[in-house]
Amino acid sequence: MSQPDRLSVARLAVLRASRLCRRLQADLARLGSMTKGDASPVTVADFAAQAVVAHTLREMLGPPTIVAEESALELRRRRAEGDPGLIDAVLSAVRTEWADATAEGVLEAIDLGAAEPLPSGGGRGDWSGFWALDPIDGTKGFLRNGQYAVALAWIEAGSPTLGVLGCPALSKDFNRPLDEPDPRGTIYFGVAGGGVYETGAEDEREAPVRVRRLEPAEGEPVRLCESVEGSHTSHDRAEKVMERLGELAEPLRLDGQTKYAVAARGQADVYLRLPRPGSRYTERIWDHAAGALLAREAGLAVTDVDGRELDFSRGRGLDKNRGVVVAPARLHGLLLGAIRALGED
Ligand code: AMP
Ligand code: MG
Repeated sequence: MSQPDRLSVARLAVLRASRLCRRLQADLARLGSMTKGDASPVTVADFAAQAVVAHTLREMLGPPTIVAEESALELRRRRAEGDPGLIDAVLSAVRTEWADATAEGVLEAIDLGAAEPLPSGGGRGDWSGFWALDPIDGTKGFLRNGQYAVALAWIEAGSPTLGVLGCPALSKDFNRPLDEPDPRGTIYFGVAGGGVYETGAEDEREAPVRVRRLEPAEGEPVRLCESVEGSHTSHDRAEKVMERLGELAEPLRLDGQTKYAVAARGQADVYLRLPRPGSRYTERIWDHAAGALLAREAGLAVTDVDGRELDFSRGRGLDKNRGVVVAPARLHGLLLGAIRALGED
């Protein structure tokens, strides 16, 4: 299949999921959330968005291989125990974008995301290319009425070659506060070598516009963006690293891969994700694949904190990498040097 066909289906899938998420975010009080085994939150919207994306890919491209964050296990368990409330809520959300969905069809669609890539392509299924999906990246942001992303990427030979990032609460207007969800949202997309495009997250007929990022001029204050969650990145270490760059602008804190989007469009110059001292966390591929492709296409350098390329051939985790550093080439070199100089203290 040609990359443009794959891209147009991926864009439609993310647009549908983004619309669904925006509607649900407007009704957060009723939605509620549950806590997963790893202590992270999950909502009706995470399950519904995963079902809609997987269904769209399957409907238009045939049975896809998808590595996604969510599984239908909890939905099936509750239903088997006589509690259909959760699957019913997911089904009614899904039906706003997939009108004739059934409960069984939704469970199957969610479980399409259970494909298991093994290091070096030794897993089951067709690993010549596969999708990585995070239906809601930054669920905490979604729940605090802030930023989050619907992240879908196509990965081939260990690298993303296509990325679509729905940012349903992110305004095109840089001046709008990040904690005021925009009623329209944005979607960023691109393929390797083709640049980054921006469109709205509401109407599939809206014409995309190429993102032209201005290089930060030397001597201009440098702006960092980073996670809201202090457990996902070391805010202290980032502050020390940034201090070495000279004059700084007020940093932006936002959830999910919207950080990659904000850097790609030039609203921030640098995205740092610095492991806390002693952290043994392995980054998940669906938390980086789409964003990393788009940042690269916007002309930014993307590596881990040791200057290594992100290696997406290792299964569900980026187990050869630690953290991420995203910046224009000149700043990126300075940042790696500053991180090395800081050491592990
Ligand atoms: P962010 O909004 O950028 O902080 O990232 C949200 C993502 O962080 C979630 O999707 C999780 O998969 C991931 N995450 C969970 N725990 C950690 C951790 N200890 N360090 C880094 N990322 C984490
Ligand atoms: Mg995530």
